[in-house]
Amino acid sequence: MHACGHDVHTACLVGTAAVLARSRDAWRGTVMVVGQPAEETFQGAKAMLDDGLYARFGTPDAVLGQHTAPLPVGTFMHREGVTMMGSTHVRLRLFGRGAHGAQPQLSVDPVVLGASVVLRLQTIVSRELSPLEAAVVTVGQFQAGTRANVIPEEALLELTVRTEDDAVQARVLAAIERIAKGEAAAAGAPKPPLVEVLNRGPVNRNDPELLRRVRAAHGEWFGREALVPGVLGTASEDFPFFARGPERPVPIVYWFLGITPRKAWEDAPGTTLLEKVAHLPGPHTPYYAPDRAGSLRMGCESLTVAALACLHGGGGATDH
Ligand SMILES: [Zn+2]
Ligand SMILES: [Zn+2]
Repeated sequence: MHACGHDVHTACLVGTAAVLARSRDAWRGTVMVVGQPAEETFQGAKAMLDDGLYARFGTPDAVLGQHTAPLPVGTFMHREGVTMMGSTHVRLRLFGRGAHGAQPQLSVDPVVLGASVVLRLQTIVSRELSPLEAAVVTVGQFQAGTRANVIPEEALLELTVRTEDDAVQARVLAAIERIAKGEAAAAGAPKPPLVEVLNRGPVNRNDPELLRRVRAAHGEWFGREALVPGVLGTASEDFPFFARGPERPVPIVYWFLGITPRKAWEDAPGTTLLEKVAHLPGPHTPYYAPDRAGSLRMGCESLTVAALACLHGGGGATDH
């Protein structure tokens, strides 16, 4: 089950639009409500921008984004600087030579080649990057063969790469290509592997001034105790594409909305925030179940308060 909380996001967006439309005399400016599809595959934001979102409706002064997280309902997490890592989805096709499973000498076995590639890819983060350069290389898919006694023609690997920095991302991608080609050559493959970048999500970096304004507005509305310390997320988003205006960069801010029911939070083992989160179901698991009423109310309020903080052009949202 996917369960990323996108139904919560959309419901909160619609609720916020309704509140802002009803209180039209309480704020000045233009609000653009973006119901973006395909966040999960990093394609929706870019498709909307390529389709002229800013050209047709104007380039905004600020873009706000909110996503659920397995934090206690009624809490919010904002992180200065990078809040989520950049991501690249890579596909490797490794070519071998098929043969009867009983005659391996006639083959170039892409299963063995693929296994070598998977193992050597583990050395990119552990041996090629500095311990201070945060990165993830995960092979989430390895497909080869259909029968026990047939050596197949090729193997397919799909990887996700996460980094905190675009330059590190480029180095990791170059290392993946070098390793795949090197292992194929070592195996005597009939041709070099095909390396394809399927999609990318940029590093999600909050604008410092906009972040301060939104966090202050949330602190004022919900109380300072509702704000939990920011932790760098290794998940990724296509939201940062909205920072790419046609003429100038657009300030963006992205925060997390806690949705875990209070009882589940209290019952979870551990004392620190990270210990408890480690024991609670997160997005992309079938057990990710938001506190319905609390998540919707808090999510609507947080979007509305943040929008008003921008529309008032000041540091608070006290007069609505
Ligand atoms: Zn997701
Ligand atoms: Zn999501």
